[in-house]
Amino acid sequence: MISTCIILLNYRASCANTPLSLDLYRQAMKPEFASEVEGLTTANRYRIQATLKVDADVNISGVETVDYTNRSTDMLSDIEYRLYPNIPGYGGTMTIDSASVNTVPAHPQLSDQNTVLALALDPPLKPGESVAMTLAFRLHIPAGSNASFGRFGYQKGIISGAGWYPTLSVYTSKTGWWKDVNTYLNISDPAYSEIGFYDVDLVMPSNLVMTMSGTRIGADARDDHTTDYHYVTGPMRDHCFMASSRYKVTTVEQDGTQIHILSYNDSQDGDDDAVRIAKAALHTFTTTFGAYPYRDYSVVENPTDGGVEYPGVVQVGDQYWHTGNTFFEIVVAHETGHQWFYALVGNDQVEHPWIDESLTSYLEIVYLRSVYGDSDRVHTYIEGIQKRYKAYLASGSPDYVLNLPVSDYRTPVAYVLVIYTKGPLFLLELEREFGESTVYAGLKVYFEHEKYQVAHSSDIKAAFESASRHDLTALFNKWVGAVD
Ligand SMILES: [Zn+2]
Repeated sequence: MISTCIILLNYRASCANTPLSLDLYRQAMKPEFASEVEGLTTANRYRIQATLKVDADVNISGVETVDYTNRSTDMLSDIEYRLYPNIPGYGGTMTIDSASVNTVPAHPQLSDQNTVLALALDPPLKPGESVAMTLAFRLHIPAGSNASFGRFGYQKGIISGAGWYPTLSVYTSKTGWWKDVNTYLNISDPAYSEIGFYDVDLVMPSNLVMTMSGTRIGADARDDHTTDYHYVTGPMRDHCFMASSRYKVTTVEQDGTQIHILSYNDSQDGDDDAVRIAKAALHTFTTTFGAYPYRDYSVVENPTDGGVEYPGVVQVGDQYWHTGNTFFEIVVAHETGHQWFYALVGNDQVEHPWIDESLTSYLEIVYLRSVYGDSDRVHTYIEGIQKRYKAYLASGSPDYVLNLPVSDYRTPVAYVLVIYTKGPLFLLELEREFGESTVYAGLKVYFEHEKYQVAHSSDIKAAFESASRHDLTALFNKWVGAVD
């Protein structure tokens, strides 16, 4: 995510021994990466069939079946989901009408302000075993809502559907199921999830132009003026959709990926820039760190105050969507960078926000260098980052380390300035000590080791130590704090 604060300052039997075919999902991968799905047989598998209706508000009703494999070494007595739209401040309501576990009716338990749903398992699920769970759900998105930088809402005719389905939480032996409720929605990201495969049918009025995470494999128009859009994904961290009658679509190709630009249909302003920047960013990060493996990528205009990233989809604020707008360029580059750090390499965005945001803020510099070379544009941008953090400290604000939970930064200004400016300054300090090529090499090592995984601060440290052949403990202690 990037905010303007930067400028201002059905059941299917399955078990571990007879994994279901993954062929379906290969369709969403570029041909040379299709085989990567075969190494992820135990990843979560979602099948969602839903219908979206637009009246005064937006309502979705659907049925979701998930095949879940116990990837831990613990017996699991329950499986837990996150219902993000119920987080205070989202403005939405997600309701569960029925549930089943291996076709046996179940009674879900809601907790933590209805943001956590637990399905009890009897008997418990052994390590390596799988279970199929089905939930019938309804989602209400009120007209006028635009929560958390527009990640969820219905405003200006734009429907933003992040967290639109019951999302599996993350289980670790150390911490159990993840239940954090991030109420800092106006400065940070609320989600934490693991790689999964998605097979989605979403029916909506045919006058809406839409995109979603993954690759479209069907669009069946019906007699009732609705269309059933069928998408599948490769291994993706979560799933979202965007839709509006106000959108038009421009599609271009870059390095084997189809880039879809969805912008308001009453203006062409900014569209060519969106194409240029998205192509350059996708190419720069592919050649520097490793390939974007999916067939599709969407850049979507949205009434957000900044930009927000999702796997295969990013949204960009409409107030910046203008030809020549320098912040527009930074937002598109930044959110595209998140495809590498957040989407392909994941992290707990609430507990360790620096892992994706600080690295991605540094990728803005990587992008600018690639496009503009050793130029005033790049030098001025770096100086701007340095000046902002200097001014922040000069105001008497605390010099926090990078590896703190969102809530520990106490103020929005401190969070934004530390994570988004001190973060890239740390990478620039590593450049000063070991050279730009070593830092790029470290990020490439980190990406290759952690792709499709959940990364920790210690993984970043290990990657840079590998690239620099130095013990970086002192440097990490100073800038990042304790790593885990
Ligand atoms: Zn970001």
